[in-house]
Amino acid sequence: MISNEYRKQSSSGGAFSLLAGWVISQGGVVFGAAYDSRLAVKHIAVDTMADLCKLRGSKYVQSDVGNSYKQVKSFLANGRKVLFSGTGCQVAGLYAYLGKRYNGQLFTIDLVCHGVPSLGAFRCYLSKLSHVLGDRNISGFRFRKLDSWSIIPAVQLSESKWRLLRLSENAYMDAFFEGITFRESCFHCQYCNTQRIGTFTLADFWGIGRHGKHFRRNVAAGVSLVIDNTDIMPTIKSELEKHAYIEERSMEEAVAEQRNLKMPMPRSVKRDSAVKDLMDRSMSLADFAKKYGYPYRVTLKSAIVGMVKGLIYALGLYNVYKTVIYKFGK
Ligand SMILES: Cc1cc2nc3c(=O)[nH]c(=O)nc-3n(C[C@H](O)[C@H](O)[C@H](O)COP(=O)(O)OP(=O)(O)OC[C@H]3O[C@@H](n4cnc5c(N)ncnc54)[C@H](O)[C@@H]3O)c2cc1C
Ligand code: SF4
Repeated sequence: MISNEYRKQSSSGGAFSLLAGWVISQGGVVFGAAYDSRLAVKHIAVDTMADLCKLRGSKYVQSDVGNSYKQVKSFLANGRKVLFSGTGCQVAGLYAYLGKRYNGQLFTIDLVCHGVPSLGAFRCYLSKLSHVLGDRNISGFRFRKLDSWSIIPAVQLSESKWRLLRLSENAYMDAFFEGITFRESCFHCQYCNTQRIGTFTLADFWGIGRHGKHFRRNVAAGVSLVIDNTDIMPTIKSELEKHAYIEERSMEEAVAEQRNLKMPMPRSVKRDSAVKDLMDRSMSLADFAKKYGYPYRVTLKSAIVGMVKGLIYALGLYNVYKTVIYKFGK
């Protein structure tokens, strides 16, 4: 699925905004993860299209659901439609709290999920990062480049200035990809398979067109994988198609490059110390990166790659570069 309007402001194809817009247009309320003013990630409720921007963008850290389950129940009791989005375990927690599914009134999105570090670990990382950046105040954090299909973290240092992270500054994401800072429960996750809990499952459709029939659209700005777990799509498809491109693809293709639809992340022995080290205030980010084998100093190769990437950005050619890389590699 590709949203005509929201793909360039979203993590992948913008499916979340489409489904959220569909619920809001019926007077409904949408729950999802947002940053607060101190960059803690919490579930909040919004009911206008303008406020959806608070929820867009994947935040690769555990979101605090707070009293959102209670709020969902109260909105349902007042007859409002609700869309709740979160990780599989958060959606399962909501249904367990409610005790029933409220079909037709409550819609849920469970994200295909790699795993999450705790908010405490993220906070310690931000504090180390601020130190590396000369004790500057970090007012925003973006895990993904939203106008493209890339995970390129950046920090906001002033109203208009975003700075891409490089080398050891990016050690949090390097550790995230390797899964060495996740909560222990993520290694035994019951939701990393195709038996999904939500009304819809959303993910990045990594590999679309590489494992099945040709995909004719440009993928550089992202394509959403939407799994219709409750067979609701035929009823709402014509409404969604007013704002999006939707194409049915096979489950085999959906799973091909999506490890977290097959199994949880295996636990690495590095997990024994990685969280402790990330939260240890006396260990610098460079020492953390060095200890776990992530880039931490400039080499000839990293300098050349950095220069070429910088040039590609400056010339506004990043999505052209992504299209070429997608066609010829993984
Ligand atoms: C922790 C985490 C791990 C993920 N792992 C994978 C993966 O392994 N493979 C994959 O294909 N996709 C993964 N995703 C999903 C992917 O990053 C996109 O969020 C998804 O494809 C939705 O895309 P969109 O274009 O609709 O995004 P956007 O419009 O950017 O939507 C963001 C959605 O994600 C929700 N969200 C953001 N951060 C959190 C959070 N911390 N906790 C709960 N909900 C959150 C928001 O509430 C919103 O619903 C993960 C997402 C998260 C948050
Ligand atoms: S990996 Fe599983 S347990 Fe961990 S946050 Fe994701 S859904 Fe929850």
